[in-house]
Amino acid sequence: MTIRNKPYSLPLTEIEQTAFCSTEDDLPAKPLSEEMKVNVRWQNIPSDYLHLTPEELDNRIHEVRNKLGNKVTVLGHHYQREEVIKYADFQGDSFLLSKEAAALPDVEYIVFCGVHFMAETACILADDSQKVILPNITAGCSMADMAPMEDVDDAWADLKNILPEENSVIPLTYMNSIAGIKALCGRNNGAVCTSSNAKKVMEWAYDQGERVLFLPDQHLGRNTALELGIPLDKMILWNPFKVLGGNTPEQIKESKIILWQGHCSVHTRFTTQQIETARNRYPQVNVVVHPECPMETVQAADMVGSTEFIRKVINEGESGSVWAVGTEISLVNRLARQNPDKTVFCLDPVSCPCSTMYRIHPAYLLWVLDCINEEQLVNEITVSAEVKSSANIALRRMLDLA
Ligand code: SF4
Repeated sequence: MTIRNKPYSLPLTEIEQTAFCSTEDDLPAKPLSEEMKVNVRWQNIPSDYLHLTPEELDNRIHEVRNKLGNKVTVLGHHYQREEVIKYADFQGDSFLLSKEAAALPDVEYIVFCGVHFMAETACILADDSQKVILPNITAGCSMADMAPMEDVDDAWADLKNILPEENSVIPLTYMNSIAGIKALCGRNNGAVCTSSNAKKVMEWAYDQGERVLFLPDQHLGRNTALELGIPLDKMILWNPFKVLGGNTPEQIKESKIILWQGHCSVHTRFTTQQIETARNRYPQVNVVVHPECPMETVQAADMVGSTEFIRKVINEGESGSVWAVGTEISLVNRLARQNPDKTVFCLDPVSCPCSTMYRIHPAYLLWVLDCINEEQLVNEITVSAEVKSSANIALRRMLDLA
């Protein structure tokens, strides 16, 4: 059992999260050398790639993709910037892309334009012969980084000490977590979920056991548990820097859900105040937010759902309708462009892209594609066989429920 508090520390990805925030509505593409002036960690690549203009990059990416043919597939998460997602053979949220990755046994290389945990998930689901590549190795996720393996292993050991009975606690992890946590869930009768299926997976978990340990996003966990009717006084927070997560053994035994104290730095920017401002400006506005937003924001909104849900509801909205959206700005700007007959805007007046997603600049995409073409493997994401096999169990449980 952990016996003392640990010093509090913020992941680097969290510290860097607001690096690209701007008061401009759009963030136009610049050569990578220009963007590198923003003070975050960037992966170094050969200097010839740094000064290429967006047009030069576009021509060269098309050229190399034509040479590579079906050997390569490019997957693009909805939060990718326009200049990158346009090359994606498949676009989706982490759930759809994970299914896509599992259904591509013939492709040799999966280039994942997203963040590290997504590429890891693709690797877990892919065939052993397939290579998964992340164009910029510094594209992590601050939420995933809030649940390092060592802290989660400690928490699990503490919980099992207090709740030794089989299935007294079912571990569920959001897709946005490292592979080791997915493996822990696979080994301990748990599963993975995404924001599209969290409710279904959590219902399944309560059929398997008494309570849930939900990692690493406290907000998705709390919002989903509330939907299932779990009262707030049966939810406890696990602070990894404190002994027993800051709880007493009694509180743990009385809980129905233990929420890991992690969050998404992008979605926690959305507030009830912003919703009020949007309603004052457009009385007929529809407010739709992502479930990674805090509970108060979700409860004040008109609708809540995954990125796929948000896309669908806006795309299918009536002409002339007005939408205030609480999710990542690259997706909101794209939805605004794709729906010129509607008013679509981000709840947050400051444009704050996910700073790690944003680091997949087209120059990195070109670089990894050129390397594949030259039979040079760079930025391959791998997962050990042991972790892969247990994580696969947790992922397959989720996919089977879908
Ligand atoms: S939007 Fe949030 S959860 Fe998604 S990758 Fe960025 S930091 Fe992670």
